[in-house]
Amino acid sequence: MSAIASSTVPDAHGHFGPYGGRYVPETLMHPLQELEAEYFRSQQDPEFQGELQYYLRQFCGRPTPLYFAERLTRDLGGAKIYLKREDLLHTGAHKINNAMGQILLAKRMGKTRIIAETGAGQHGVATATVSAMFGMKCVIYMGAVDCERQALNVYRMKMLGAEVVSVTAGQKTLKEAVNEAMRDWVTNIRSTHYILGTAYGAHPYPIMVRNFQRIIGDEARRQILEQEERLPDLLIACVGGGSNAIGLFYPFLDDTSVKMVGVEAGGRGIEPEQHAARFQGGSLGVLQGTRSYILQDENGQIQLTHSVSAGLDYAAVGPEHAWLRDKNRVEYTYATDDKALAAFLKLARLEGIIPALESAHAIAEVIERAPKMSKENLIIVNLSGRGDKDVAQVVDKIKL
Ligand SMILES: *Cc1c(COP(=O)(O)O)cnc(C)c1O
Repeated sequence: MSAIASSTVPDAHGHFGPYGGRYVPETLMHPLQELEAEYFRSQQDPEFQGELQYYLRQFCGRPTPLYFAERLTRDLGGAKIYLKREDLLHTGAHKINNAMGQILLAKRMGKTRIIAETGAGQHGVATATVSAMFGMKCVIYMGAVDCERQALNVYRMKMLGAEVVSVTAGQKTLKEAVNEAMRDWVTNIRSTHYILGTAYGAHPYPIMVRNFQRIIGDEARRQILEQEERLPDLLIACVGGGSNAIGLFYPFLDDTSVKMVGVEAGGRGIEPEQHAARFQGGSLGVLQGTRSYILQDENGQIQLTHSVSAGLDYAAVGPEHAWLRDKNRVEYTYATDDKALAAFLKLARLEGIIPALESAHAIAEVIERAPKMSKENLIIVNLSGRGDKDVAQVVDKIKL
């Protein structure tokens, strides 16, 4: 086994080299240790794994297809492009993979109440969905600004029986929603599990979320071997907190011939407060329980971020990505709002698939790279979600 995917990372305290760890108030240490212990027990428990597989298949809609994008491939004139269709999952994105895993864990731990944070609302919807399904009380924390921008998702969560708490502190967005969720968790720890939505936060969340999402890459690896009888040359995924990307990448980390590119949000360009590309303008710091690359000013104040896609609009990136970047195993780049919007429309027109704006960032990178590759090369791009949620958002940005 190569050094990359081996179990030496994270270490027992959740460190990926200098990244990761558990930077939380004392009151959260014990609950996180309890969660970690129960999570690792569940990993070894065939009954838990069987239950998870059952719901992923029967409720979420797995496995998702690995679809050959024939017209996009022809249009770009280079590498053969395959789309991993996470957009076809129930609730429209990969987030349900993790929400399902964590709620089964919560049930196993005897919890009766679920909380979560959400930015765009996608993780909130996935969490409200699995909570309804298992009859658990559900509270979703969402910044007041996001509640306004994503009114439809707020209503959707309420329809599913969740309480949505509009957070009015600070910039009134995702960062503040996470703070509120952590506060709630400390207060209600006995009854409550916190379903964190991405490969971020205090140990064991980054490794746990990655493992619940690695099904994307496990399936894609099996499918490409079936369909092409060989491994892909390149994997591409967008990177918010990093869960859909690490989910695709992880099962291929030991395949040295497979290159990988993570695409962050370049927003209006790499100027302070105009983007969310942590590896472009960020530096090492601690935010919300973990150590990673963060967009901050020289005093350690978290900077404002911007992206046309709310799901990529966060000031920090998951610690495992920072480590994979140091190892030169994954390359990180960015796509601007304009390029993502162009890719959004191109995929709709050529393939009949409206991607999530987040996923459109990955498609934008495919548009850059595929033409420069040979027709024998294979690309797998993670289509992390569908774009129905973004239609209202793009109406005044794409003139038709
Ligand atoms: C939330 C979201 C993302 C970004 O989150 P990651 O944890 O980086 O995957 C990407 N795509 C879609 C469709 C999302 O909903």
